[in-house]
Amino acid sequence: MLAVARLKATRLQQSALAWRVLAGQDCRFPMPKLIDGRAVAEKVYVELRHDIAELKARGVTPGLAVILVGDNPASRAYVRSKDKMCRDLGLHSVKLELPASTTQAELLARVEEFNRDSTIHGILVQSPPPEHIDEAAIVRALDPRKDVDGFHPENVAKLVLEDASGFVPCTPLGVQRLLLESDVEVDGAHVVVLGRSMIVGKPLALLLMQKNKNGNATVTVVHSRSRNLAQITRSADIVVAAIGRAEFLKADHIREGAVVIDVGINRVEDAANERGYRLVGDVAFDEVSKKASAITPVPGGVGPMTIAMLMANTVKAARQASFG
Ligand code: NAP
Repeated sequence: MLAVARLKATRLQQSALAWRVLAGQDCRFPMPKLIDGRAVAEKVYVELRHDIAELKARGVTPGLAVILVGDNPASRAYVRSKDKMCRDLGLHSVKLELPASTTQAELLARVEEFNRDSTIHGILVQSPPPEHIDEAAIVRALDPRKDVDGFHPENVAKLVLEDASGFVPCTPLGVQRLLLESDVEVDGAHVVVLGRSMIVGKPLALLLMQKNKNGNATVTVVHSRSRNLAQITRSADIVVAAIGRAEFLKADHIREGAVVIDVGINRVEDAANERGYRLVGDVAFDEVSKKASAITPVPGGVGPMTIAMLMANTVKAARQASFG
């Protein structure tokens, strides 16, 4: 089954084609569609601005509290961009930065404060916290109605039960939205998800197998103990890679015309780059893109969708808390 129903020319495709012509490449083979996460995220923000204006007109400003414990530079950057996006959208944003020495009890007390704060509709504790923090206990302490990351057991249960009032983790939600916006037919397709983490792989598998028009996929999940991984991925209409292994998925892993979604974000050394590294996904983009019918780039694919879905979950939390 060809997974892509319709292919629309994007600006990225056009510029990629121009590049291929200039590079003297053979252009008889169809270009893969580049799934532009930034463009889809912008579309989500347009919708959210409308929703936020409506909520504000009814006296509600959605509020998000992000707690960062310690000074992991990558976590700090994520927290900064979440705070910035909240402010851009006109949300109430609280960024709480705590030292790495913060105890479990102190962190729980801050979570409790936000649980009680009626101006805060979403709470997120940036992962990973320092090692002495029991992350699962912190997640359980969150008011599930404010758990916009979707990690609380009550929200995990709602995902399994297909109860739409729950919160679904942002990255899987972003992947699903990317597929929908790219006219990729998920209904009836065979989706192979690489990775079984609670943040990406597992919730994504549950989401795409849900019995609704945005799901109905036949989902296979593979992980580090899977046998014949390449044989399984080659049978997929859609492959989603979320394993944290730089450029692991090669052209041999997919079949001609498959849709490939790359969730991975990996740093690889690059002396030519002023930062000394560059970001790559779990997919060997150059070779896989020659065989795929559609593919996400890294960066600019799934990443922008994760933060967009966090904003969407915060707006949903505010709406549900205020109007049911
Ligand atoms: P994780 O918790 O480390 O889980 C990795 C999963 O991949 C595990 O299930 C593991 O199997 C599996 N795996 C590892 N090596 C494998 C191999 N060689 N073959 C098959 N399966 C393998 O990672 P995660 O948090 O899900 O993140 C995965 C990647 O996505 C990372 O690069 C992360 O940075 C990125 N990410 C991106 C976003 C975004 O917004 N774009 C959000 C979250 C994560 P086992 O279970 O058997 O160990």
